[in-house]
Formats: sequence, C-alpha cells, structure tokens
Amino acid sequence: MDELNSATENLSLDVRSRIEYDKLTFFYLSMPIVLIGHLFGALLLIALLFGSVNLESASVWLAVSIVLFLYRFYHYYQFKSESEIKKMDNSDLWMHRFYSDVLLSGLVWGSSAILIFPEGDIMSQMIIILFIFAMSYTSMGNLAAKAELLLLFALISFVPLIARLLILGTQEYTNLGMIVIALMIILVVISRYFGNVVNNSLANHQHFIDMKHSHEVLQERFFSLFERAPVSIFYYNKELEILDSNAHFLELSGAEDKENLLNHSLKETKNSELLHSYMSVFDNNIGEYRGPYTSLISEKLLYVDLSTVPLLDGDGHITGGITILKDITEEVNAKESMVRNAYYDILTNIPNRTLLMDRLSEVIEKTEKKNASASILYIDLDNFKKLNETFGHDQGDLAIKQVAKRIQKVLDTEEFLARLGGDKFAVILPQSKESNFLARDNARRKAQKILDTLSTPLKISGQDYYTGASIGAHIFPYNSDNAYDVLKRAETAMYEVKRSGRNQITFYEESMSENIAEYISIDNDLRNAIANDELAMYYQPQIDVQSGEIIAAEALIRWNHPTKGMISPEKFIPIAEESGYIMELSHWIMERVVKDIKDLSELPEGFPLNHIAININSLHFLSPTFSKEIKMIIEKHQVLAKYVEIEITEGVIMENIDEAVKKMNELKEYGMKFSMDDFGTGYSSLSYLSQIPFDTLKIDQAFIMRMADSHGDAILVYSIINLAKNFDLEVVAEGVETTEILEMLQDSTCNIYQGYLAHKAMPLEKFTKLIR
Ligand code: C2E
Ligand code: CA
Ligand code: CA
Repeated sequence: MDELNSATENLSLDVRSRIEYDKLTFFYLSMPIVLIGHLFGALLLIALLFGSVNLESASVWLAVSIVLFLYRFYHYYQFKSESEIKKMDNSDLWMHRFYSDVLLSGLVWGSSAILIFPEGDIMSQMIIILFIFAMSYTSMGNLAAKAELLLLFALISFVPLIARLLILGTQEYTNLGMIVIALMIILVVISRYFGNVVNNSLANHQHFIDMKHSHEVLQERFFSLFERAPVSIFYYNKELEILDSNAHFLELSGAEDKENLLNHSLKETKNSELLHSYMSVFDNNIGEYRGPYTSLISEKLLYVDLSTVPLLDGDGHITGGITILKDITEEVNAKESMVRNAYYDILTNIPNRTLLMDRLSEVIEKTEKKNASASILYIDLDNFKKLNETFGHDQGDLAIKQVAKRIQKVLDTEEFLARLGGDKFAVILPQSKESNFLARDNARRKAQKILDTLSTPLKISGQDYYTGASIGAHIFPYNSDNAYDVLKRAETAMYEVKRSGRNQITFYEESMSENIAEYISIDNDLRNAIANDELAMYYQPQIDVQSGEIIAAEALIRWNHPTKGMISPEKFIPIAEESGYIMELSHWIMERVVKDIKDLSELPEGFPLNHIAININSLHFLSPTFSKEIKMIIEKHQVLAKYVEIEITEGVIMENIDEAVKKMNELKEYGMKFSMDDFGTGYSSLSYLSQIPFDTLKIDQAFIMRMADSHGDAILVYSIINLAKNFDLEVVAEGVETTEILEMLQDSTCNIYQGYLAHKAMPLEKFTKLIR
C-alpha cells in the first residue's frame, strides 16, 4: 500500500510529466485489488445466477472474464518489472494500454446485461444490475481523471443494460431503465469529482516535492557558502560562546576539530578593540576590526580584516553575532617588508639613506625652529676595501654587520644610525643644544666613542682584523640647509680625514669643499688616465755606495694630467687605494715595469742591473690573486723572476703576517726578491725581521735626511744598518741629497743608496742611456 503513496522525485522532468507518471503508477499499482475484485465478482455473479441463465452463455462470459483478468494481470506484471526510466519513456504507451484495458473490462461487464441477463427472474436481474454498478464503480474511479474516457466507459458498461431494460417495454422496466440512467449520471458526476480530487492531490504532491527540492537546494547552497567560503565565518551567542564555524575558521584557529573550537569563548580575547567589535552587535551595530589577531587556540599571531553583524532569531531579536574574518597576514607582511626594503638596509637591518634623509629633514626643521644646533657624523671605515679583497665579500658583509652593531651600542636611543651603503654610515645626533659649541662638544665625544669601539679588532674568519674609521662631523643648521647639503658637508669632512691620516674626527669647514672637489675629480680623471696614455713609469737609480755604480732601480709612477700637469703619486695613490681603483692601476704598473725589464734584458750586453723594484700597496699584495697575477705577467714577457723585486711596507706584513709570509715564500721560491720600504716609520718591530723573508731593507728617507743634523738619527741609522747586516739583508739608504750624507754612509757598511744627489727618477729612455 505504501507504494501507492510514492511519487516520483525525478526532477529532470517537469511537474506535469511527473504528475502523469504518478497517476500511471497509481493506476497500475491499484490494479491487483481491482482485478481480483472483478474476478471474484464474476465468479460470484455466475454462482448466484446458476440455474437462471443459459449455461453456455454463462460459461463464455466467465471464460472471457478470466482471460481478461489474466491479460490485465500480465500487463500489471510487465509494468511492475520495467525500470522507472523505461516506464517514463513509455508512459504514453502504458497509459493507453491501461485505458484500453479498463474499457475492455467495461465492455465485458456491460455485455453481461445481454449475455447472462436472466429473463423473468426479477431478483436475479436486480443482482446483475447491482454487480454492474459495483464493478463499474471500481473502474470509474480510475478513469475519472479523464472525462471523455469516463463517458465512454459509462456508455460501454451501462448502455447494454439500459437498452435491455427499455426493450423489455413494461412500465416497471422502463422505470428501472430510467433509474439506471439517473444512477449512471450520478456515478459519472461523483467519479468526476473524485477524479479531480485525485488529480489535485497528485499535483499537490508534486508541488510539494518541488518545494522540498528547492528548499534542499537552498540549504545546500547556504551550506556551501558557509562551509566552503574562502573566508572564516563563525557565529556566537549572547554569552560570546562560539556556536558554529566553517572549515576555514577551524583551520585559521589551528583547531583540531569543531569541538576543540566550541569549547572556547570569545571572552578570552585579550585584544580590547577586537572584543569591542564582537560586542557592538548587541547594540545592533556592525563591528569592524582590522589589525593583529591572536588565535584562541594556537596563539598564532595573524593580521585580519573582520566584520561582525547581529544574529537575529525568527522574531528579529538579536541573539548573537555572525563574524566574517579574512586573513590578511600575507598582505600585511608583504607591505611591511616593502616598507622595510624601501627604508631599511637589508644586510644590517638598520635604516638606509632614504630614511636617514627623511629623519634629517625633520631634525633640521626642528632645530631651526628652536634656534638651536644638532649634528651629524659621517663614518667611513678605513681599510674596508682591503678586507673585502682579502677575505671575500661574505666576510666583508659580516664585518659590516659587526660594525653596525658596535656603533649602535654606543648610541643613545634618540640617536639615529643609518647605513649609507658600502662601508659608510651616518649618525644623526638630534639633541638640540643651545649653542654651536655645545653641539660640537657632544658630537666630538660621540665620535670618539665610535672610534674607540672600532679600535678593538673585528673577528673575521676567526682572525683579528684591525679597522678604524674616518669620521666627518657637521653642526647644523649652517645656512638655510637642506638635508642633502648637511650630509654632503659631513661627507666632505670625512674625506678630509681620509686625506690627512685617517682614524680621526674632523668638523666641516668651508675650505674643505675645494679639497674634496679636487679629491673627487682626481678619482674620476685617474680612471681615464691609462686609456689616455697619461701615465708613465720612471726609474730612479740605486747606486753602490763605494763604487758609485748603478746596480738597481726603483720604478716610480708619474701622471701627467692634461690640465693640472704633473700630479704626485703621493696625492693620487691614496685616492686610488680608497676608491679601490688601485687594483687596476697596480696591475698596469706591474705589466709596464716587467715589459721595461724585458726591453732592458734585450740589450746586447744583457740586463745591466741586479733588479728593478716595484712598489706594491697592501690592498693589491694581500689580494688572493696577486701571486698568480705577477707570475702570469713574468711568464708573458719571458723575463727572469730574479730581476723583479717587490717593495712593500712593514704595515702590509703586520696586517696579516702569516698570509704575507706565506705569499712571500711562494714568490721567493719562484725567484723574486722582496724589499721592505720605509723601514723605521711603522711598528719597526725588529724582532719580526728574522721571521720575514726580506732581501733588502730600505731605511726611510726621513732618518737619512736628518742624519747630518741629528746625532740621534745618525746613531739610529747606523744601528739599523748593523742589525740588517746581522740578518744578512742588503740595506738601501733612501733620500740621499748631500755629499755629506753619502760620506757618512761610506763610513758604514750600508752598500746601496738612492737620492737626488745622484739622480731623480727618469723615463726609461733616459735611464737606459744612463746605464749603458
Ligand atoms: P716611496 O716608495 O717611498 O718612493 C720614494 C719617493 O721619494 C719617490 O717619490 C722619490 O721620487 C722620492 N725621492 C727619492 N730620492 C729623493 C731625495 O733625495 N729627496 C727627496 N725629497 N725625495 C726623493 P715619488 O715618486 O713622488 O713617490 C712617492 C710615493 O708614491 C712613493 O714613496 C710610493 O709610496 C708611492 N708610489 C710612487 N710610485 C708608485 C708605484 O708605482 N706604485 C705604488 N704602489 N706606489 C708608488
Ligand atoms: Ca718605494
Ligand atoms: Ca720609501
């Protein structure tokens, strides 16, 4: 019976087709009971009429009834076993089949009034009329849905009976026929009514299915929206307990499962601003919040964009809030790092030049308003290029980090450190002082602290590395300054320090600008000097003290500047060292001198000297590629290595004694010689002499020049000469300008001298003529 209530939910069909299909199912599924009723009815009728009707006609009629029963039952069976889809496809066919079957039944029952109508037996006639009514009633219910079929059925099943009654002709039969017609009409009308009821109920059922379905669709849509939304959603009650959340929020909170989350209350929120926005829904407001957010569970710090709206019940009362929350952590971080990259130095994580300029402008404005003074320090590390060359850029970076940390440590909180790039830093000392003098005093003391902290060696690759700094200081406001001018002046002062000896503090003065402009123009012009053929190597003879014979020479560079004339190496070599250009310059010098040695070796009498000395500055000598470089040049020009002497100062050795000695030994093995330049000026640590494989020691010209006038200096020179002899070193006295001094040397064991007394440095051509 349940089956009779079933309605199709195949929503691929429209409502009308579904109703048709439901009707079909209803018809077929109600068939067995109807058919069995008809069969029993037929059997019962024949049994009741037994004896009063013709046996033959009765048998035929019963046989037809049974065949029809089987035939229809077969249809029923076929219908039941077909799949729903097929039934739907064939629904028209099934419907026609059903209707024709019903009409057949009607025909069979209608025919009973002719085939088995008992003549003259009123009682039996009444029974047959009753049966025709009863049976047709069961079928008419089915057909009621279709008016034309209903009429046809009524005609088929009643007309024979009515005709039979009217043909009998008596008043009673005519009356009976009229009654049958009246009852038939009533039956049709009532059936029609019930048919409509069935039709309506089927239609309602399908409409209900439609509604149910669209409700389900809505629910699913809402669920998708809630559960799969790419933002976090949760809602909470008046006690601020979380009632439910979507998957996104669970994940964001770091909750293992929903239960884990629902145990928490928003009251635990420590951020009062956030708590306020949760609460604002109870005043019927929308709560908005954007900022840091700590998950209640994982305590992870995020950035969110959140809004929360009142949660209403069916009556429109506020029962809680619905919060939508978007994780903007990545966006915020990206923005932050963009700001950081724009204003902070990546290596040291301290402000960069841009931020410094911003800050400087502010400080200038403030001090100007207050009619006070503040200061800036421009710091440049000494020897940093050398460090980079010697240890590589990674170590250089580490050194810069150490330096930044150290400077930061000696600064007060309001003092502002920035890295300008490379090994350059700046510090703004913003404390305004009433007077220029006080600001100056403050700056000097701070700068001294920075120099002090940098005087302890840096740790580079586990070794101590000594660096210092040159600090240019400037007090502002000066004129009506902008930040650019202020920084520029501090930089100028810094270059002045570099020029005049390093590791000091100097305040900016107007006159410096000129020097610095010159400094910068020399640096620029020098870079074109090689290409423009402005450089030349000169040779100053070294002479045997006793015989007066030229036995060696020192190569000295000369620069003939197109507008400035001769520029002394004492001026441009330090600039090239500072800018790093010295590496290229020094390579050019080696190349040129070795080539000149080659030319001299090709004289018919052969190379007429012991060697030629080349000055190599420490940055170049300590660079990892130096040995390879000089060897390649020597091999390229095919000269004997022993004709090349390298002149380095004591300072070069002291910077990294192990490395320097290792390199010297390697090159000595190769055949080259070494001489120590300017001995006596530096550390003069005589005890080191024995460990360092020098061949020659050059006594600094300052001592030689003072020999004649100062007894002390004379003694010093003699003792250096004796000491050198003890270590089996050749001794060169440099800067001999007078015969008096030469004579003093002739009395000693010093064997070589060099100086204006004999010759100044000269071009190769002149030198060649001199020595032939
Ligand atoms: P230094 O290596 O000590 O060179 C000796 C300097 O003293 C040379 O000056 C030379 O001309 C000068 N001199 C020689 N005899 C006398 C004298 O009797 N009286 C006086 N007053 N001076 C004398 P110069 O050529 O101007 O070189 C100056 C410095 O420049 C050199 O000092 C050296 O440190 C550097 N330098 C020169 N040429 C080169 C070079 O090719 N490479 C490198 N790295 N540095 C060089
Ligand atoms: Ca020299
Ligand atoms: Ca010298």
